[in-house]
Amino acid sequence: DKPQIGVIGMAVMGKNLALNIESRGYTVAIYNRSAAKTEAVMKDHSEKKLVPSYSVEDFVKSLEKPRRILMMVKAGAGTDAVIDELLPLLDAGDVLIDGGNTFFEDTMRRSEKLDESGINFIGMGVSGGELGALQGPSLMPGGQKAAYDLVAPILEQISAKAEDGAPCVAYMGPNGAGHYVKMVHNGIEYGDMELIAESYNIMRNVLGYSVEQLADVFKEWNEGELSSYLAEITADILTRKDDEGTDKPIVDMILDAAGNKGTGKWSSQNALELGVPQSLITEAVYARYISALKDERVKASKVLPGPTQKPAVDDVKAVVEKVRQALYFGKIMSYAQGFEQMRVASENYDWNLHYGEIASIWREGCIIKAQFLQKITDAYDRKPDLQNLLLDQYFLDIAKNYQQSIRDIVALATQAGIPVPVLSAAISYYDSYRSEVLPANLTQAQRDYFGAHTYNRVDKEGIFHYTWYKEQ
Ligand code: NDP
Repeated sequence: DKPQIGVIGMAVMGKNLALNIESRGYTVAIYNRSAAKTEAVMKDHSEKKLVPSYSVEDFVKSLEKPRRILMMVKAGAGTDAVIDELLPLLDAGDVLIDGGNTFFEDTMRRSEKLDESGINFIGMGVSGGELGALQGPSLMPGGQKAAYDLVAPILEQISAKAEDGAPCVAYMGPNGAGHYVKMVHNGIEYGDMELIAESYNIMRNVLGYSVEQLADVFKEWNEGELSSYLAEITADILTRKDDEGTDKPIVDMILDAAGNKGTGKWSSQNALELGVPQSLITEAVYARYISALKDERVKASKVLPGPTQKPAVDDVKAVVEKVRQALYFGKIMSYAQGFEQMRVASENYDWNLHYGEIASIWREGCIIKAQFLQKITDAYDRKPDLQNLLLDQYFLDIAKNYQQSIRDIVALATQAGIPVPVLSAAISYYDSYRSEVLPANLTQAQRDYFGAHTYNRVDKEGIFHYTWYKEQ
């Protein structure tokens, strides 16, 4: 049998996806720039229906037509290099999939270039890391719909399955739509992680909870509205002891400096480009940046004072419940912003994204998988053109019931000198969004004063300029 699909790139992701595809009954061609990785895969999996090639030419020749090729190589220059090598060897009608963490504008550019040769190009977000790739990732493909249909049966088989059995893959839209949705997914992931970290910090450093107690709190939270992969792994992380012999919780031995690979930053940058408020993801990115300034923070901690009086907490259990509500409220603001960003992007790039479907393919196989995503799907089922998630009855009720808790928690943290950038951004966004009147009248007056930028009036149509000063 000629392989029905080929995978280029035998690092962790490509190897695991190739094994996943093979496990569904396909013969899979594999290729990697350096032979060693391909040889290692063949040595470990000699019994599998994998067909190795050691040149791009042989790899392309080995495939059934129309060829289906999945690239899992380093995003950026690596992807361009592979495409350039493949281009002269492919025919019109072949389907090339880029499953890397590619910036969506690169996908749009490549898509246009490949269109000229009639080669189908799919930019596909792959979530779920190494294990997801092997057992079932959440897949976000974008490109020509006809090309998607040529690979849909394979993608549906290898993807994660939600509780109701639905595959966690769906056609996102043309050109960069898939990689865009993956980018927002990753940005939301930054927000979710920071919300959990801030909640942990408040309970640990204001309420004085031990790491063991916190493990129990997250375990309990994971059984309710907050049920999610990230809550689950947080509970697990907090039960783990150091494996380097100190007998301390591993969290206490890990340096408080978080890294990043830039996808959160891309989400924020694009939100700025589109003019969409995206304060939660942005603050989450900043939280990682400021965490990385460890040496500076250590020095500043010696000279910059915190609050002179620590707030008293009487009913610790009641505060824990308020933290839970604040976290859920924050999560809702974050998703409201994320989906708002996708709505504006969809109009801007002409993608026709389906928001309910996006939430539904995130239910399994990805880092932000959570029970509450079903609520988002339900909201868009009720009203496909929903302007903002907050206006759906379910989310509106949560906001109504939990808003006082997040106010109390942000106030408590601030009085205690505990930073809560994302929780604060959540309540500020909520208060801005629900404000009939904002102080932007004053801002606009200043703009008109120093720059003659003009203003609109509350009482009549037209463009006005006030005579702030007489010309000399
Ligand atoms: P890496 O991102 O570490 O990329 C390594 C692979 O890219 C190797 O196969 C390497 O070949 C190949 N490569 C790099 N440059 C070139 C080039 N110029 N020409 C040809 N091949 C090149 O591998 P991962 O498996 O971690 O990730 C693959 C893709 O999947 C990336 O885009 C990544 O962002 C994305 N991704 C990763 C996830 C993860 O959890 N790791 C999750 C989701 C997506 P060689 O062996 O010859 O160096």
